Amino acid sequence: MQDYSITFRSHASCAERYPENPQTMSTALPRKELFDIPEGIIYLDGNSLGPLPRAVTSHVSNVVTAQWGAQLIRGWNESLWMQQPGRVGDLVARLLGAPPGSVMMGDTLSIKVFQALAASLKLRPERRIILSDNGNFPTDLYMAQGLIDTLGQDYELRVVDPEAVEASIDESIAVVMLTQVDYRSGRLHDMKTITALTQEAGAISLWDLAHSAGAIPLDLTASQCEFAVGCTYKYLNGGPGSPAFIYVRPDMIEQTQPVLAGWMGHDAPFAFDQQYKPAMSIERLRVGTQPVIQTSALEAAMQVWEGVDMQDVRKASIALSERFITEVEARCPALTLASPRSANERGSQVSFAFEHGYAAMQALIDAGVIGDFRAPNIMRFGFTPLYLDENDVLKAAMILQEILDDRRWDDPRYQVLNAVT
Ligand SMILES: *Cc1c(COP(=O)(O)O)cnc(C)c1O
Repeated sequence: MQDYSITFRSHASCAERYPENPQTMSTALPRKELFDIPEGIIYLDGNSLGPLPRAVTSHVSNVVTAQWGAQLIRGWNESLWMQQPGRVGDLVARLLGAPPGSVMMGDTLSIKVFQALAASLKLRPERRIILSDNGNFPTDLYMAQGLIDTLGQDYELRVVDPEAVEASIDESIAVVMLTQVDYRSGRLHDMKTITALTQEAGAISLWDLAHSAGAIPLDLTASQCEFAVGCTYKYLNGGPGSPAFIYVRPDMIEQTQPVLAGWMGHDAPFAFDQQYKPAMSIERLRVGTQPVIQTSALEAAMQVWEGVDMQDVRKASIALSERFITEVEARCPALTLASPRSANERGSQVSFAFEHGYAAMQALIDAGVIGDFRAPNIMRFGFTPLYLDENDVLKAAMILQEILDDRRWDDPRYQVLNAVT
């Protein structure tokens, strides 16, 4: 077995091996040094859990010792913990093409899906149908099912094929709830067109941007959608358990019932009023106390986006994904592309179907290339140009080829299913 981590550390050595393609020019935005990625690892799983931005380590340590440790309860005022969810929301808003004051951080994405969905139904009380697609992430569908069970009446979750969404939007639909980028295939929904159709039908648009935020350019203002939600531990690198975000179109905030009527979303939390009265701003989407330390990790992680134009990220991500597809198809004929072939119809990930995908992914991870696996047979690879370049992508494809050529996946220790795949 060859140790690629040594052989291909520099661009020069890579170009030597591939004289037919001498300019393996870096397409990376110059940010790799802002991340703390272990030596010898090629990380193609930032779509699942982003790596650690260096700024997070010292910031979190400071929050723990200088804020929590030294300030104690005074941290809420002295370190502005109270303003933290909205302050970080404004940082996220820029990447979503949303104005300041339209995004709130907190809770988990599952909870934000529930909150936005319930608020959407309240806005269309005469309608009963939630429209979604079968490419959606299961938790989004489960939250809808749970909400419907709670509401009773004759609410219905209608789940259609992704290609059938547009034709299924009509005036009976209360809310169209979709995830823009399919977590398995990377297939990208046309947000602008679907939102326009939804609005023509008088329904509410709720977009899950879990695989979009920090991955592709977004313009929520132009899309006119009412609600968007997403998580921050994927492309936004906030760390495991970092808080979710919820966007409400600014003109809709005062009509939006937060549904989860927690004290932090109250107009005056410290009045300790017996009656709930929502804040007249995006603050009403808060529920309870935010995870201050984890939100601090996200706040520091957002520094890597300073001065970054999402159009540049998109261009670089397409270049990396296209290169990966070309290399893998040439080197690994046993794998079948399971993502749309056209870059315009893909998010920032590429999936391949392979019968022994789980074991092959375990072998690949063992060889230092981290991607992940989604049942039943999908090997999934995420591309984040902030810390990946074409050399990484090429090296990953070569190591994958070696694993397939040597049938290294056929080792019993790679067949053992982990709890998290
Ligand atoms: C990652 C992801 C989730 C995860 O939800 P959590 O509540 O953060 O665990 C939900 N929905 C989609 C579409 C996702 O991609």
